[in-house]
This record gives sequence, C-alpha cells and structure tokens, in this order.
Amino acid sequence: MFKDLFRSKPKYVTVRPQKQTDHLEHSEKKEIPGGLWIKCDKCSNILYKKDLEKSLYVCPKCGFHFVISAKERITLLVDEGCFSEFDSEMKTIDPLSFPDYLEKLQKYQEETGMKDAIITGLGKIKGQEVVLAAIDYNFMRGSMNTVVGEKIVRAFELAREKHLPVTIVSGGGGGARMQEGVFSLMQMARTCQAAELHSKKNLLFIAVLTQATMGGVYASFASMADIILAEPGALIGFAGPRIIQQTMKQNLPEGFQTAEYVYKHGHIDRIVPRPFLKDTLANLIAWHRR
Ligand SMILES: [Zn+2]
Repeated sequence: MFKDLFRSKPKYVTVRPQKQTDHLEHSEKKEIPGGLWIKCDKCSNILYKKDLEKSLYVCPKCGFHFVISAKERITLLVDEGCFSEFDSEMKTIDPLSFPDYLEKLQKYQEETGMKDAIITGLGKIKGQEVVLAAIDYNFMRGSMNTVVGEKIVRAFELAREKHLPVTIVSGGGGGARMQEGVFSLMQMARTCQAAELHSKKNLLFIAVLTQATMGGVYASFASMADIILAEPGALIGFAGPRIIQQTMKQNLPEGFQTAEYVYKHGHIDRIVPRPFLKDTLANLIAWHRR
C-alpha cells in the first residue's frame, strides 16, 4: 500500500543520493581494520591492536576514542553473561522500495552480523537490571529507520512494564535514514513519545552520546534523557559543521559540536571517558533506585 503511494507521483527533479559525510569528515577512518597495527586518526601514532583492545579502543597516546561496534559496547557495559537481546531478527520491509537499499542492507548485515543498526535487550550493569540499547555506527552510520525506532519504543515499553531504567548508547551519525524517508522521520516522534511516557512513570533514562550523534537521532530521544553523558571528542549536533559553515558563511569556533564544546555550553551533563563508563552508569542507576 505504501509503495503505491510513493511511486505514483511524477518526478520534477532527480536528486541523487549523496554520501552522508557532511558532518563526519574527521570520523571517516575510525573503523578498526584487520591486522596487528592500527594508526590513530588523531595523533597518527601506530598502535599495537592487542594494546588497543586492552585500553577499550582508546588511544593510549592521545585519548582518542575509536568507534566500537554495538556488540563490543554491550560487552563493555553489562556483567558477563547477563544480557538477553530482544527482537534480534527484526528487519525493515523497505517501505519506499528505495533503489539498491536492500542490497546495501545485505552488505551491512553481512559485515556486522546484525539485521539493522541497533541492539536492544535486558542486561545487568554491576548487578542492576537495566534495559539497554546500543546503536551501531558501522551499520549505515547508525542511522534511525523503522527498525531502530520500533526497537527503541519496545525497549521503553518493557522498561515501563518492569519499572526499570533505560540506557541508550547512541552512535547515530547518519541521523534519520533517508532510504526510508518519512517513515524514518516518524521515528523521531515515536521515540520521543516513548521516552516521555517512561519519564511520566518517574523512571530513569540515561543517554550516552558517542561518535557521532547527529540529525534525527540527536533531535529526538538522544537529547531527551534525564542524564546525558558523552564520550570525549564525540561529534554532537543537528546539521554538521560543514553544512552550517556553508549556510552561514562564517568560520565556526574551534572544536564546534564536539562533546567538549556542547558540555561547555550546557547541552550535556558530563563527559565520561570509556574506561569509566560502566562505573558511572552503575553509580547513576544505584543513586536513582527507589
Ligand atoms: Zn592517538
């Protein structure tokens, strides 16, 4: 039914999809390649991969936080063996029959072993039950589509039912996923509503903003949390710096839209380096328990 609605309209102009790199210039090479050595994108030091793994993919020389996958994030945060995933097989139906979308999805599915860009589930952080979601930047830049939105809504619903806190680690540098158009944009309203209903039950919601949290993800649930944490250096904002600079025709301040910049301007509550994230979350959850 939806496909017919969107197909029948005449085309006035053809807009070619662009790579979503506008706000991600300096995050292009963050993926961890295979091999024994990795070059740090910030300080250019050559790092031994085993050492980097031990330091949780934080550069020991300059503190640069490499992007990690949603699975690595869950492993990092929850107690060993204490995570049960929800809806792991949920897939998009490609509501707009967007050209080449299914092929692209298949490629990311094979690369990440995930059906879409988010993992949600019930886990324990230092013995405390929490509904946890982690968005994977490596899956289409963590963009929000119908699956990401639906799984976040379901996570909040379960948390409400069980009176549990919610923690979402966002890595949604792609904002709302253009291949699902208005259906992706709808998820902004849906996830905001879910967060609001959760809040009305006096339940805790903590967001952890990671590289990068932009567009429709930042402009919806990610900025609605009771407590907003961020990893050092994460890019946080709506439109990216290059777009803003081109539109405003002004030079932007140094460090614009980094976690440090938005912290200084009061948009987030705290910057937490990755090695301290689990302890910080555990403390916050414990302090807010009834
Ligand atoms: Zn470095």
